[in-house]
Amino acid sequence: MSDLKNKRIITVATTGAWPTKENTPYVPIEPAEIAEEVYNCWKEGAAVAHIHCRDDRGRAAMVFEKFEETVRLIREKKDCDIILNLTTSGGVNLREEDRIRPFCELAPEMASFDCGTMNWQHTTVFENNPKFLEKLAALMNEKGVKPEIEVFDPGMIYNAAYLAKKGLLKPPFHFQFCMGVAGGIRASVKNLVFMKETMEEVAPGSTWSAFGVGAGAMEIMYAAVAMGGNIRVGMEDNVYYRKGVLAESNMQLVAQARRIIEEYGCSVATPAEAREILGLKRA
Ligand code: ZN
Repeated sequence: MSDLKNKRIITVATTGAWPTKENTPYVPIEPAEIAEEVYNCWKEGAAVAHIHCRDDRGRAAMVFEKFEETVRLIREKKDCDIILNLTTSGGVNLREEDRIRPFCELAPEMASFDCGTMNWQHTTVFENNPKFLEKLAALMNEKGVKPEIEVFDPGMIYNAAYLAKKGLLKPPFHFQFCMGVAGGIRASVKNLVFMKETMEEVAPGSTWSAFGVGAGAMEIMYAAVAMGGNIRVGMEDNVYYRKGVLAESNMQLVAQARRIIEEYGCSVATPAEAREILGLKRA
């Protein structure tokens, strides 16, 4: 086994639910655009692709056919072994059955698992009620899909611990600390340390990754690399490359993450190494 201690996994979230072509002309929206972007991000060093799709009007949606096409187009690129991680939120106020269907039918290795309900951006409710989470966890177990436990505040780490105690979430756990979303925890080093320590207390032996939305993005990226964590980048979380300058592609954001990891003295995990780190069964 290779030495994985100094490897850092880059997850790319190319699209997300929010940025539109009006916000940035560079965000990939159509399945073909997303697949091409994922492929090129893999070439830059991304080991995991967190996938969202949009409807025909570019709005956040869980349209199964769009996921099917996107996944098919990525899998057609035979040299690309990137790990697929499908969203199970897709946005807010979407139907539970639509949120569940893509990971159930398309057999990704991972899917996001948003471990609690929150007031989203002071505008609406991002609902992940206890019954839904139990159903989601049971289905992920049944399908052999590893949950990426997304936590937007420390309370959600305790929700994960509760589901683990009930046997619905099974170790080894992988957490994604989503920081700086209004309604959740602010993106700061102090808060990242607290999130990591809380996770270690309630779910020892877990792996983790982090990102900050907006102004806290760089702070979280540098701190996560230094603290032994993995990182997520992409237009789902930040459309800017630096203050006031739009990123012209997701590849640019992955390349930046790669440079930061390498300058720190670590190296970027390949998808095969990421599978080992995350304990994924399928290769
Ligand atoms: Zn997402």
